[in-house]
Amino acid sequence: MVVVADLLFNRVAFIGIGLIGSSMAKRMQEECMASEFVACARSYETRKKALDLGLVSEIYDDPAKAALGADLVVIATPVGSYSNIVKSIASVIKSNTVITDVGSVKQAVIDSVIPYLQFPRKFVPGHPIAGTEFSGPEAGFSELFEGRWTILTPDINVDKDALQRITNMWERMGSKVEMMSPGHHDMVLAITSHLPHLIAYTIVGTATDLEEDLRREVMKYSASGFRDFTRIAASDPIMWRDIFLNNKEATLEVLQRFSEDLTFLQKSIRRSDGKSLEELFSRTRDVRRDVLESEDLT
Ligand code: NAP
Repeated sequence: MVVVADLLFNRVAFIGIGLIGSSMAKRMQEECMASEFVACARSYETRKKALDLGLVSEIYDDPAKAALGADLVVIATPVGSYSNIVKSIASVIKSNTVITDVGSVKQAVIDSVIPYLQFPRKFVPGHPIAGTEFSGPEAGFSELFEGRWTILTPDINVDKDALQRITNMWERMGSKVEMMSPGHHDMVLAITSHLPHLIAYTIVGTATDLEEDLRREVMKYSASGFRDFTRIAASDPIMWRDIFLNNKEATLEVLQRFSEDLTFLQKSIRRSDGKSLEELFSRTRDVRRDVLESEDLT
């Protein structure tokens, strides 16, 4: 039974119900955060799966039909699709509708959404730092956000009640919430997430370009190192295409630094400069220890 005091929203509309949207829907249902959950997806297969899995009670192919009457709209599609989506729902958004998103890039998302919103103060941009390499509604699970950070990047004039409710929503999903400026978010994520994905796509791409025989052996002997890269490089192609196209500046900046550091490594190897290699590898080993320690603390 839904305890009304626990309700954060009445009707929640997910625009896109893949890994992230379905994980949110599951957890929000478990936590009785709203009385009605609906969604929109493009393909018949996704719409059928979302209904079969009991993620929502109604599902539409038109974003505006899902958003109609919703007091929370969650945009959970690849970031390149945002402006078309917001254009199509703009006419049904009321003054009491909170809009949030889960996109992995923030400044470009905000720039593409704000021009179409009549009530921009109700928009609370967000990004849960949680995911897997799997996609679609069947990939979702309600513990996905447990113990993970969610970064919110609201405007300084954001509606305080909307911000509070979105913060509560993520906390009830088990997430730790942090506020950040969108530009800072994009730079931090370019280093911690976008660059590692780019490197994984490159390494796996290079290996698959090798001669057929060698390639077979690469696959056969792919112990943990290469195997881990293949997992990262299996992430959704459209989602990652949109991330790089929408976080160009920050990605190119960290890529520039990365290629300078790579050139330094190349030189060290060519000159048999073991001292430089050892110094760098010792420093990076310390980083691993710091990362594990910070996970213990949080
Ligand atoms: P997903 O599993 O691939 O699901 C995407 C959903 O969006 C599907 O319902 C899909 O519908 C719909 N969709 C795709 N393209 C669309 C378009 N052009 N117009 C309308 N709907 C469209 O993706 P996801 O992993 O949940 O990612 C969703 C968002 O979360 C992205 O913005 C991503 O940056 C962000 N994010 C992802 C992760 C992660 O690790 N996956 C982590 C944090 C944040 P159909 O199935 O019918 O095509």
